[in-house]
Order: sequence, then structure tokens, then C-alpha cells
Amino acid sequence: MNDARALAKAYLEQQRLLGGDAVILPEKEPTVPVSRIPTTDLPTSGISFDPPSGDLFASDPVQQARTLADVATLVAACTKCKLCESRTHTVPGEGPDDARLVVVGEGPGRTEDETGRPFVGKAGELLTKILEAIDFPRERVFICNVVKCRPPENRLPQYDEIAACVSYLFRQIELLKPAAILAMGGTAAQTLLNTKQSLGALRNQVHRFRGIPLIVTYHPAALLRNPNWKRPTWDDVRIARRILDG
Ligand code: URA
Ligand code: SF4
Repeated sequence: MNDARALAKAYLEQQRLLGGDAVILPEKEPTVPVSRIPTTDLPTSGISFDPPSGDLFASDPVQQARTLADVATLVAACTKCKLCESRTHTVPGEGPDDARLVVVGEGPGRTEDETGRPFVGKAGELLTKILEAIDFPRERVFICNVVKCRPPENRLPQYDEIAACVSYLFRQIELLKPAAILAMGGTAAQTLLNTKQSLGALRNQVHRFRGIPLIVTYHPAALLRNPNWKRPTWDDVRIARRILDG
């Protein structure tokens, strides 16, 4: 027995003599070495990000949104960043309000801007297939993006645009209370985990957003450019599936 355990045991014994609850400590340390933990176990835990929620900002209209439809209504009228100037439609996201899985992408592309719906272009078709592969028809998933208006020429959303928009996403997740979140691509992962770490560094861990397990994987548009990433993406979504099954 090491010193810390001996001390703890002596302390608990003292507590017991003083009338506290008896606590039984096993005599031996657990002996399973890390390398022997079965590979079907979930990967190690990563970052936990707990942005303050609702109550602190009670006067913010986004926090007063009681339903996903309320959030969408606020988004439709939003002019908080310059992306409002070039949009055709806002793309708040879509899916059932009892969805157990939330998929978060980067921002609307051309087809999304034209239709007001998330992930309906080529990348969207691939996302639908990825979800089918883990037995999740897309109708059962809430699908959305970090920014709700299309960045011109599909450029990356800029920091000020993300900062202006992110409260909609956070409120959507707060209302949905999903069992798992799948962050697709660096923008979604870095925004939801409040980090600058690369996608590669963030993969293959179970992170948490306000306590909700969050898995990071490649963006489907990146998969269209680099099919070598399909295999690792498949591994990632299977982790998400296991969390949802557990
Ligand atoms: N790429 C995204 O990140 N989101 C969409 O909705 C479509 C393509
Ligand atoms: Fe508002 Fe977000 Fe659209 Fe910017 S991207 S105008 S913050 S809804």
C-alpha cells in the first residue's frame, strides 16, 4: 500500500471511530494496465468546455428563445454581423427537437444559402450517407452550423462573425439537450471546445460541451477532396454511435 492510501485508510479509520460511516477500502490497487483495456472502450477524455448558460444573460433575446423555432425566428431577422449583407436565406439548422445527436458544420454554402436548409449540397449528400452508415437517418438528427449565414465565396467564417453568431448555436444545443454532438471540421470543433488546437489533435477523444459528449471529425467537404480521410471519419462516427448506444 502506498503512503497516500495508508494515510487515507488511517483517516477513515479515525472517522469511523469518531462515529462516521464505515468505508471499506480494497487492500490492493487495481492492476489492469492501460494497454490491456479492451479496444472497444471509448477513447480518452479530452477538453471540457462549459460556457455560461442562460441565467447569466437572461436579458439577451437569444436566451429567451424557448423553442428551436424561436431561435430560427431571431436568426431570420439577425443583422449582428456583416454576413447578413450578402445572404439570400439564413440557415438556422433543422431537425427534430428531441434529436439525440446534433451535427455541427461550419457555415452554409451556396445551395444552403439558396434553400435555407443545412447540408443539402454535395457535402450534405455525403453527410447523409455517413449518418446512414451508423443507422441514423438524417431526419432524426439536428443538423446545423456555427454561422447561420453564408460566408462569401465559401471562405472561412471570421472570428468576429463566429463571436456574433455563436449564441444561437449554444442556445440550440441548450434547448435540444442531445446525448452527443458531432463537430465536423476545425471551425465547429474549435468553436465548441474554445480551443485553437488542430482537428488532428482533437480527434479520437471524447470531449465535453456543457457535459455533453462531443466527438470531432473531418468535414464532409474535406472528405470529398481527400478520400483518405473517409476511413478515420468512419472510426469517429462509430465512437459517436457507441456513446449513443451506451
Ligand atoms: N458545409 C457546411 O459546413 N455546412 C453546410 O450546411 C453545408 C456545407
Ligand atoms: Fe446574424 Fe449569424 Fe447571420 Fe451574422 S451569421 S448575421 S450573427 S445570423
